[in-house]
Amino acid sequence: MRLRSSTLAAPSRLETHMTEILEKVYDPQRIEAKWYRSWEELGLFHARANGAKPAYCIVIPPPNVTGSLHMGHALNNTLQDILIRFKRMDGFDALWMPGTDHAGIATQNVVERQLAAEGADRHTLGREAFIERVWQWKAASGGHIITQLKRLGCSCDWSRERFTLDEGLSRAVREVFVRLYEEGLIYKGDYIINWCPRCQTALADLEVEHEPTDGHLYHIKYPLADGDGAVTVATTRPETLLGDTAVAVNPADQRYRKYHGATLRLPVLGRPIPVITDPYVSLEFGTGALKITPAHDFNDFEVARRHNLPAVKVIDEAGLMTAEAGKYQGMDRFACRAQILKDLKNDGLLVKVEPYTVPVGRCYRCKTVVEPLISQQWFVAVKTLAAAAAAAVEDGRTRLIPPNWDKSYYDWMSNIRDWCISRQIWWGHRIPAWTCTACGRVIVSREDPAACPLCEGVDLVQETDVLDTWFSSALWPFSTQGWPTETPELKLFYPTSVLVTAFDILFFWVARMMMMGIHFMGQVPFREVYIHALVRDPEGQKMSKSKGNVIDPLDLMDKYGTDAFRFSLAAFAAMGRDVRLSEERIAGYRNFANKIWNACRFTFMNLEGFVPEPPVAEADLDPYEKLTTVEAWIMSRLQQVIREIRKSLDSYDFDQAANVLYQFIWHEFCDWYLELIKPQLYNKEDVAARRHCQSVLLRVLSAILRLLHPFTPFITEEIWQKLPGAQGSIMVAPYPQPDPKYSNPAAEAEMNLVMGIITAIRNIRGEMNVPPGALVEVFLASPEAGAVEALNRHQQSIKILGRIQELHCNAASGPPAAAAKAVVDQVEIFMPLTGIIDFKEEARRLDRELEKLGKEVNQAQRKMSNEDFLAKAPAEVVQKEQAKLQAQTEKLHKLKTHRERIKELMG
Ligand SMILES: [Zn+2]
Ligand SMILES: [Zn+2]
Repeated sequence: MRLRSSTLAAPSRLETHMTEILEKVYDPQRIEAKWYRSWEELGLFHARANGAKPAYCIVIPPPNVTGSLHMGHALNNTLQDILIRFKRMDGFDALWMPGTDHAGIATQNVVERQLAAEGADRHTLGREAFIERVWQWKAASGGHIITQLKRLGCSCDWSRERFTLDEGLSRAVREVFVRLYEEGLIYKGDYIINWCPRCQTALADLEVEHEPTDGHLYHIKYPLADGDGAVTVATTRPETLLGDTAVAVNPADQRYRKYHGATLRLPVLGRPIPVITDPYVSLEFGTGALKITPAHDFNDFEVARRHNLPAVKVIDEAGLMTAEAGKYQGMDRFACRAQILKDLKNDGLLVKVEPYTVPVGRCYRCKTVVEPLISQQWFVAVKTLAAAAAAAVEDGRTRLIPPNWDKSYYDWMSNIRDWCISRQIWWGHRIPAWTCTACGRVIVSREDPAACPLCEGVDLVQETDVLDTWFSSALWPFSTQGWPTETPELKLFYPTSVLVTAFDILFFWVARMMMMGIHFMGQVPFREVYIHALVRDPEGQKMSKSKGNVIDPLDLMDKYGTDAFRFSLAAFAAMGRDVRLSEERIAGYRNFANKIWNACRFTFMNLEGFVPEPPVAEADLDPYEKLTTVEAWIMSRLQQVIREIRKSLDSYDFDQAANVLYQFIWHEFCDWYLELIKPQLYNKEDVAARRHCQSVLLRVLSAILRLLHPFTPFITEEIWQKLPGAQGSIMVAPYPQPDPKYSNPAAEAEMNLVMGIITAIRNIRGEMNVPPGALVEVFLASPEAGAVEALNRHQQSIKILGRIQELHCNAASGPPAAAAKAVVDQVEIFMPLTGIIDFKEEARRLDRELEKLGKEVNQAQRKMSNEDFLAKAPAEVVQKEQAKLQAQTEKLHKLKTHRERIKELMG
């Protein structure tokens, strides 16, 4: 038998004909746009919503309309697309609901920057013209990210695309606002809020980034109003003392017993303030005496409420000192701090200054230091909503995956404060509340009111604030399906099946969808929430513009193809672990795509006009008794692979699914199966055997392509379209089901032995430096008759794949002279090497190599024992040297062993 060395070599006669069928080189750019267009034109992303199939629904986390695709989006949307494509193929009416978020502050900022460049601002433009300008911006440049999601292959139902500010969603927002108001769950009140003096708006707690900053703790003396003595307080913000309305001590603190109920004189201003007791005050912090500034501190605000203390606002919305600050009026808050410290020092009231780390809160948009302020804002009273949302996770109506998120979810829900929903910007859902100027009545209604219901006055002034962006996205799972109208979609697709999200918006968004969904729909918004990790750089660092380590997903798609990129993301997405993006691995998965392409090309060349009947997806095979052992083995393995992939996808173990596919396709299908069937495939004399072989091959390949499709949609469609007997798009072909009929442990065991022996023979060839062209003689010996029989059955394969001229398979044969030896499952393998390699020459070569490597190891050892080097070299250099030395030592050991074997063989 002629030895066929090249894996994918094929008879040249077919070459020209078959090149038309599958191009020689896999070119992702050529096929991706083509297939995406075709899927869209055929309406394959469209969910029918007619109840004919079971429903499966995912709502996309709506990207900001200002957004462009970053790594986080790429991961998040690839995982959703894998699930949606899998379920669609698996017989579900699968709806992936897409859309974008109007992103209040973010979008307003973009347009404000444009205006600033033109020397204008929103105030000169006026509210209506400004909003018009934002809509124009959206029409021209918004939604860029949608194009990018299409590039990624996302099979969203674009015919249903929504925008959080579109008409339908705005109606849902208004309905929710009015209902909550009528239920007493929305109120307007004085509240301490986070305020950004630059953005001129309230910020939610979540929109404030707290970072530890070097600062100071100032000890300041507050003298008693009557008589001698003073109480010393410690503060990090001395300028706020101007707004103090009390000093609080812990009732149990013995140090301050005698001051209970005393009156102090506020430094600088001289205003009298009481000493109060409150258990909130820590005995350990500072001096144990706490100044209380209700207007500029969250905790103090709460203390003041308990004690009915007044709030004195000394800093205004622009961050400047107010009239209440006396002589500091008009000063910037930080300039005021410097001045007041000077004044306190002059008055002898600044007792001590010590370094202190202050958790400074900054605006998440512009990084300005946030100022807590008291102002009139709109709130949602969330306590009852949060309790219901917590209960839904507790009793399993919604499952968080992985479940270790449960605890932070419960913590957050139980410590939740009322949600400040008003924002002092223009881009967003304007709050549907009007005040009657005649009688002061507040009117909140579904329709714009024409007159006051109380006094019939017609001078009604609408609230100027808009709603927090998250207010509208909290309604996303039902507002996108037409709520408050009871649409068929709402009935079918709510609750949605799963929400796929990164953990950074778990509280911003997911928790609020839970609250709103349960309250308005009476059911949870999603059965499961899969929380994936963040994408980091190869060193595990968070990607950020300032670090300059941002990788653009579009560059990677250009460079490696979208399929390879998607497959990489899936393979990286291990549950609960951050994704470390390595370009090397993406390149590896591009090789995988090439491997698949080449394997299919080879297959098609050898199908030569074979058309299966019926179509491959549904084709049944002959019962497995008629399969060859090789076929029985690959079919058995295929069933196992199908089971594992289905199980992994159902449990969101995307990395496992990807790895199982990779291993099976590369190492079993390509490396073994295709090699093992070549003799049958090439033997045109035995027509029946060849047809049978082709039919099984086609069947396996069809299953592989369908298994792969959700991960690598483009390449699989391109190949599917050319697969003999395949019909329609692979997108709607059935996802493979495991068939227990093909499970065959005996065939698997037999093939494992055969493959093990071939591998061992290849290893001997490699280790012993047997020239690749040399045809060797091999003796196999086993005490087990069964094994011997099996090996005899596979003589031909072992000979071809081991490049063996003479194979002796005999239980009784003794070890031949001068033979290399290996053992696999009790089978002894002997390969006589006399005449194959020149022992003397090999020994000399090894001696030379041993000497050279020995010197290198010595050198490295000296370096590693040099204390000077160890002390001065950076840790990573030492580590590198250590690793190098270890590798060299291991290689030296191997060479020595090998030299020993050569010595033995020389006799
Ligand atoms: Zn800001
Ligand atoms: Zn009125």
